[in-house]
Amino acid sequence: MKKLNTLINEHLESKNIYEENPRWIIRNSDIGGRGLFANCDIKVGDVIFKDNPLIIGPRSSMLCPVVCIICYKQIDLNLCSRNCGLYVCSRDCENSLVHQQECDLINNWKTENEKTCIDSAMTKCLTPVRSLLLSDNQKELLKLLISHSGLQHGFEIDILKNKLKLDFNSDEEDLMRLTCTVLDANSFEVTVGNEHGRSGLRGLYPLSSLMNHSCVPNTMHNFDCNQNMIVKATTFIPKGNELFHSYTRFLWGTPVRRAHLARTKHFICRCARCEDPLEYGSNLSAILCENCKCVILPVYTSKMNILWKCNECKHVVTNKKVTVMLRVLGSRLNSFNTADIDVNEILEFVNNKLINYLPRINQMSVELKYKLVWILGYDPKYLWNDLSTDLLNEKEKICRELLNLLETLRAGRSKMRGLLLYELQCCLREKQRRKSDKLEMKTLVQEAQEILKDDVHAPPEFKSCNG
Ligand SMILES: [Zn+2]
Ligand SMILES: [Zn+2]
Ligand SMILES: [Zn+2]
Ligand SMILES: [Zn+2]
Repeated sequence: MKKLNTLINEHLESKNIYEENPRWIIRNSDIGGRGLFANCDIKVGDVIFKDNPLIIGPRSSMLCPVVCIICYKQIDLNLCSRNCGLYVCSRDCENSLVHQQECDLINNWKTENEKTCIDSAMTKCLTPVRSLLLSDNQKELLKLLISHSGLQHGFEIDILKNKLKLDFNSDEEDLMRLTCTVLDANSFEVTVGNEHGRSGLRGLYPLSSLMNHSCVPNTMHNFDCNQNMIVKATTFIPKGNELFHSYTRFLWGTPVRRAHLARTKHFICRCARCEDPLEYGSNLSAILCENCKCVILPVYTSKMNILWKCNECKHVVTNKKVTVMLRVLGSRLNSFNTADIDVNEILEFVNNKLINYLPRINQMSVELKYKLVWILGYDPKYLWNDLSTDLLNEKEKICRELLNLLETLRAGRSKMRGLLLYELQCCLREKQRRKSDKLEMKTLVQEAQEILKDDVHAPPEFKSCNG
């Protein structure tokens, strides 16, 4: 742990974000393994630390758009003129030191007579390659971070080897494969860009990656323009308490979160929220009894097995049946993801369909409502000016409801709270604008009418009976 601490400090120093008396300390965690702890009392909103990526680069999913591998723009892309197979947006990016290094590396791996690769595979698989350009100490730090084992990790290296026919040596291959497992266990999604276009990247932030997961995290993070991650407290954190962040969606119910964490991060979460079937009284993952319509809460009988039993009529719904029901409702929910959104259809589904199966506030209605927050006011069909009074009121209601839910779930001063507070404020501003428009309209119309009422050309509504 001492070694890890030294290497982390060295990393922070090299990125000019080292602090003399840090607010964090690395210790053994009750959860198992190590964790990050508060080294002093930390107030809500305080910055706990800043971190900078050890490795950052394009995401490997073929669904993600291709980006310039230096500035991560998505426009004006061309393949590097030296045939490394990577996309760059300009001469500057192509001639940058970082690219020259990786360009040489990849070109050295090329076997004789090999044709230039023409698709985006090289760009998508670049991130683990970058581990080879780290310093010895950086490589050391990388190796000290948690990694996942398993066959699904490291497919990028298979593509480099089998599809792109690159010929790297076994030491290089080992390090890149290890990097894939470390990235899969620890990387954060980083969004760069501005209103003209955003790209999602994955970054390995070594200090942040030491934080363990909780479904009720006490930290949040955002990024500055230098890809620094700024980690802040969402609640008061007394000295000695562990710092947590979340790898999963906050508004998902426990069974969905647990399954997601088990699949992607290979562990069963045992945080306070996961252990509480009520989820702090939100009943977020409850269903309704098919018999008596009472609320049934999920009770775990083993790691992943859930007993759904009605407390009132003792009726038991099999886990399989619940899964099928949620899948059917979920596929309807996902069908709303189309380009041509009909808000009334979504509201109809939430208010009339879901309530037959799930309590009024449930993970699906919550997810759809959160989606509506970003449709109402922003979708071309539902811009602020064009919103009906009903829909404007609906958005206000949804914001308040979700803010209440965050409070119930003890989210503290989370990013989601910030976003919802802002949207609620937008609703109130729009309502105020409409109200003051109405007032101004009244005075305008009054004066116009006084001037024009006897005029033969006056608008019909102004004409007095003697006209
Ligand atoms: Zn660029
Ligand atoms: Zn190149
Ligand atoms: Zn949990
Ligand atoms: Zn019942």
